[in-house]
Amino acid sequence: FFAHMKAITPQPVEDLFFRWFQDPSPYKVNLIIGAYRTDEEKPYVFEAVKESERRILSNSNLNKEYIQSSGLDIFNKSSCAILLGKTCPAIIEKRVATFQTLSGSGSLRIGLEFLKTHINPPAVYVSDPSWNNYSLLVNQVGLPLIKYPYWNKLRGELDFDGIINCLQSALEGSVVILQVCAQNPTGVDPTLMQWDRIEQIVKEKKLIPFFDTAYLGWSSGDYEDDAYIVRKFVNNDIQCLISQSFSKCMGLYGERVGALHVVCSNQETAEIVHTNILPIVYTMYLSPPLHGARIVANILSDDELIKQWKNELKFVIQRLKDMRIRLVEELTALNTPGDWSYIVNGIGMFSNLQITPEQCSSLSDKYHCYVLNTGRISICGINTKNIKYVAKSIKAVVEP
Ligand code: PMP
Repeated sequence: FFAHMKAITPQPVEDLFFRWFQDPSPYKVNLIIGAYRTDEEKPYVFEAVKESERRILSNSNLNKEYIQSSGLDIFNKSSCAILLGKTCPAIIEKRVATFQTLSGSGSLRIGLEFLKTHINPPAVYVSDPSWNNYSLLVNQVGLPLIKYPYWNKLRGELDFDGIINCLQSALEGSVVILQVCAQNPTGVDPTLMQWDRIEQIVKEKKLIPFFDTAYLGWSSGDYEDDAYIVRKFVNNDIQCLISQSFSKCMGLYGERVGALHVVCSNQETAEIVHTNILPIVYTMYLSPPLHGARIVANILSDDELIKQWKNELKFVIQRLKDMRIRLVEELTALNTPGDWSYIVNGIGMFSNLQITPEQCSSLSDKYHCYVLNTGRISICGINTKNIKYVAKSIKAVVEP
């Protein structure tokens, strides 16, 4: 049955990760993975998460029954409230259809399946560059993919004119995937004024925004402040889909916990949308996992735990900001050719090094600093112990 198949080459990120994993060098640095690491290079479990889990374990009334296909009710309500704000008119008017999903990836997949089945938009616009999986997801559901420019590599800044020109000529009724903040991979977001212009075009061209909020918190350090853009669109009565993930902001990567919110024009439509998403969920995994949803729901329903979580998130993000500053200081102290200030100005987990693919390969192959050939580095992999080595290695590959 299966002999006719040809092997598919692994994603560059998987391939590189494997090479890093197997590298015996004591100097090796993982600049690949978008998952937070402490200064000691360890994964971090939030104290708020540990406390939430203690409460789950000590509650003898809890069981492990299936939950309904749309997910844990209290999780859906509290995750929607922290995202859109408790007083959001769309929530009060019951215009949001919410599903607990297998994190942001599951939310994007369910959302795109829903759009393909019930809207069949002429295209899905995805930024270039962007998180690689968007293209895979759009192709998988069989919708036409169009890339909109996002990044001016030469100038190391947002290609705002490119975004506007492309979206202005977009096919009416298309879907546009928009990362709300701390864009993966560039670490550069539109300004508030630029978002205003994007919103105008979304309205004019009747585009359906599909917001990806995977990195909420990673820009300002505050989850709710970073939700400003998505709240603004929703409060301006723009119907949209929102993918929410608790992987990065609560460090719950492996628990696969997130949500899909479909913001509709009225309650009746939201209820109908809800019934139409249910069969997509039944036929993929029946119902979502329980544990992660309980962890998040406990945190979001307790003011003390929310405070604890928010403080920890601030701390985590400050470490990365410090690393950005330190890296540029080290590169400058070494007289490394080039202007590296964009690293400090960047936001979130990633920065896009302005170096050639050959220089990237050399960083990985010769200096054990594993970086994708696009130049994307995860700041999470940098710490006070390896930062001098990383800077020296970058200098070595860029020096003529
Ligand atoms: N969106 C973006 C931009 C991402 O970078 C990622 C993960 N790296 C995701 C969504 C999905 O993450 P998860 O499925 O863990 O929520």
